[in-house]
Amino acid sequence: EGVMWGLLSRPYHVLVLLNPQSGTGQALQLFRSLVQPMLVEADVAFTLFVTERPNHARELVQAADLSQWDAVAVLAGDGLLYEVVNGLMERQDWQAAIKKPLCTLPGGSGNALAASINHYAGNTRASKEELLTNCTYFLCKGLHAPMDLVSLSTASGKRLYSFLSFGWGFISDVDIASEKYRQLGNARFTLGTIQQLAGLKVYKGRLSYLPVETSSSVSSAPGSPSEQNSHHVPCSNGRPLHILPQPAPGAPRPPHEGSWPEDSLLVPFDQPVPKHWTVVPEEEFIAIFAIYQSHLGADFTMAPTAKLHDGSMHLFYLKAGVSRLGLLKLFLAMEKGTHLDLNCPHLHYVPLRAFRLEPFASTGLMTVDGEPLACEPVQGQVHDQLCRIISG
Ligand code: ADP
Ligand code: MG
Repeated sequence: EGVMWGLLSRPYHVLVLLNPQSGTGQALQLFRSLVQPMLVEADVAFTLFVTERPNHARELVQAADLSQWDAVAVLAGDGLLYEVVNGLMERQDWQAAIKKPLCTLPGGSGNALAASINHYAGNTRASKEELLTNCTYFLCKGLHAPMDLVSLSTASGKRLYSFLSFGWGFISDVDIASEKYRQLGNARFTLGTIQQLAGLKVYKGRLSYLPVETSSSVSSAPGSPSEQNSHHVPCSNGRPLHILPQPAPGAPRPPHEGSWPEDSLLVPFDQPVPKHWTVVPEEEFIAIFAIYQSHLGADFTMAPTAKLHDGSMHLFYLKAGVSRLGLLKLFLAMEKGTHLDLNCPHLHYVPLRAFRLEPFASTGLMTVDGEPLACEPVQGQVHDQLCRIISG
């Protein structure tokens, strides 16, 4: 397998974007006490930019002259890297900009990508200062590799780029509800899970996807007459939301929209998914979660086989009917990544290239890379190796 490593050529200069509010609010102190001395020792020059509000980093990378820096690092949680990825994709020159090597330095409460990269490097599980030290060391080495991104489109016309996850239901609700416990760091997710278990909710909608296997065998024959998909007609109760993605006449469009990476696997929301897709027959879920890297957090190995650029989203969906105890066992097994070994009949796992989710009601929130997204029909596909990330 071609890894296509790159190496930052010395001397190099890094832009460090830092969210002082992330995690337990220690990011700036961690930079001064831990990161900066290592960069100085390794002769890596840096420019520190401390964000003052949400979207500050996004606006900066949207407009900045990127040639000043050889890499862009984020000392925060996954949320700030999500801003950076989307800011880069919003540039006129996104095709070049998104190839700027990125680096995640874990300083937030959710540091899933950092935990994943630490795992891919063969390091033992680490969190807090130890994980930050490992990731800073990767930055000092300067090796970078390609990483897949997922494009997400919503029925109302939003378009987002995601490097980590898309979720709806239980796991997303834990993420959102536990925001207020950010001060606890990573432990916020354990507390949030126990709390959410008390009021288990059912989420109704239609889930469709293109599995990795099918996509490689039929991709050369679009429209092949596979009858595998027999559920693509709208169901008779008419509940699926069909918000047509047509913009209002004369609605402003981003000037570069036509040149965004093409979603070759997707069709518009007003059309049924292609015939060779799979439509999940069940329509009642506890959680739907697609993760594209191995770890959901320092203590959650959700997709043990995932790689930086394996061309797939690792979809887990949990059907309604699972007991609270069953769910708790799954959650505890996820620490080591053994949740699939439990053979829970309600839990399904599929590696896939594309998906569509059509909720039957537009209440509540979904999450993209841990950040909230209003609930509406969403579809997405993998874009192989679209960005680059500093890794061990
Ligand atoms: P955490 O892992 O603790 O959630 P993140 O880096 O993911 O930390 O950031 C959480 C949210 O804070 C993101 O939505 C991000 O846009 C926002 N944010 C970024 N900078 C600031 C700031 N200076 N003040 C408040 N919020 C910010
Ligand atoms: Mg976050």
